[in-house]
Amino acid sequence: MALIVQKYGGTSVGSVERIYNVARRVAATVKEGHRVAVVVSAMGHTTDELEALAHSVSARPPEREMAMLLTTGEQVSVSLLAMALDNLGCPACSFTGPQAGVLTDGSPLSAHIIDFNAVRIKEAVDGGKVAVVAGFQGADSRGELNTLGRGGSDTTAVALAAALNADSCEIYTDVDGVYTVDPRLVAEARKLDEICYDEMLELANLGAKVLHPRAVECGKEHGVVIHVRSSFNNEPGTLVKEETKMETGIAVRGIACDTNQVKIAVIGVPDKPGVAARIFTALGQAGINVDLIVQSVRRNGENDILFTVQEDDLPKTLAALEPTVAAVGARHIFHQCDVAKISVVGVGMTHRCGVAAAMFEALAGEGINIEIISTSEIRISCLIAQNRVKDAALAIHKKFNLAEAELNIQKKAAKS
Ligand code: ADP
Ligand code: ASP
Ligand code: MG
Repeated sequence: MALIVQKYGGTSVGSVERIYNVARRVAATVKEGHRVAVVVSAMGHTTDELEALAHSVSARPPEREMAMLLTTGEQVSVSLLAMALDNLGCPACSFTGPQAGVLTDGSPLSAHIIDFNAVRIKEAVDGGKVAVVAGFQGADSRGELNTLGRGGSDTTAVALAAALNADSCEIYTDVDGVYTVDPRLVAEARKLDEICYDEMLELANLGAKVLHPRAVECGKEHGVVIHVRSSFNNEPGTLVKEETKMETGIAVRGIACDTNQVKIAVIGVPDKPGVAARIFTALGQAGINVDLIVQSVRRNGENDILFTVQEDDLPKTLAALEPTVAAVGARHIFHQCDVAKISVVGVGMTHRCGVAAAMFEALAGEGINIEIISTSEIRISCLIAQNRVKDAALAIHKKFNLAEAELNIQKKAAKS
């Protein structure tokens, strides 16, 4: 009798019919003799709609109030799923994040889980009930409600699987697993049978929203194997786990695209030691995550500094930059939203030459201009025009033969 954690995303619980689809799947798992805890997201586009509602009331809603509002989305779906299960003769009990024991660190809209005291969930499943837990939310030590950041229900599920020492952690979504690239962008994308935590973490951080980055981190930290699969069929999906030998045999495993980036340019920055430090310290103190950075040298004792931030952070970024830019004597700032970051990821690129060259060639072949480049041991990212993302993804996918590479890995695995 296994203990199974299942998570169903927004599309999977997007209507009453789909809630019943989930309820039937959960009930079937219970019928097989397993204990089940289910984590769910808000129905369909509820979280987007709640965000829009807040912005129709206030241009800058206080973060605490936004967290109060957004957490209602998951409260609707857990209660409805528990009712549907009950109606199917499968006893169930719904829990908010705080009721489930999710203790968070107190940042209202991007909180971390610092403890998951799952006693009530354990009691429920041991007592023959399905525990239906609201994803994406928790409370700090004072009881203040927090959210885990967009897409955070995945993290609730993996943290719950770790807390319960569950036998499996299944993330059910609207695609069949993790693909070489977003299958909605590139039709030739191929589903991966397995991917290691480090590659998945890079892809997630770089914009592949199929898993929340902190869910992958949590899986890695606690050794939880994450099975990403479809809520609409019974096909096996993708296992996210420790590195497998076969993966290091190829340079690039996947491509991630992030269209939520904004390019910021600080123009005419005095070319003196300490100036960049002051600019980026101001951004750091405002809690802004800066991504790609490049400094271009000018002749007359001035530089231009270009970097990217997430679109959501744009107002905070401009507010933090304006006084600092004036104080360091830079000339002006401008921002541009129609950009995107495209990245290739693979642990196998560490000791290989020519990976960056191949990526740049693929982009050049399509006449796509690269504005900023950044690399780490296992990834290369380029900032490009947003309206060229699809062409770029397809060209890079072809250049590295990603579909074929995955097929070869699967054939090798089948033989061994
Ligand atoms: P859920 O609501 O189930 O959490 P999400 O919308 O958050 O689902 O994540 C699933 C989506 O992630 C897919 O519909 C797909 O468009 C997108 N996606 C981006 N990159 C990938 C990838 N490499 N593999 C699979 N899906 C991806
Ligand atoms: N409902 C939240 C969101 O849309 C959390 C999630 O779906 O994972 O971001
Ligand atoms: Mg998601």
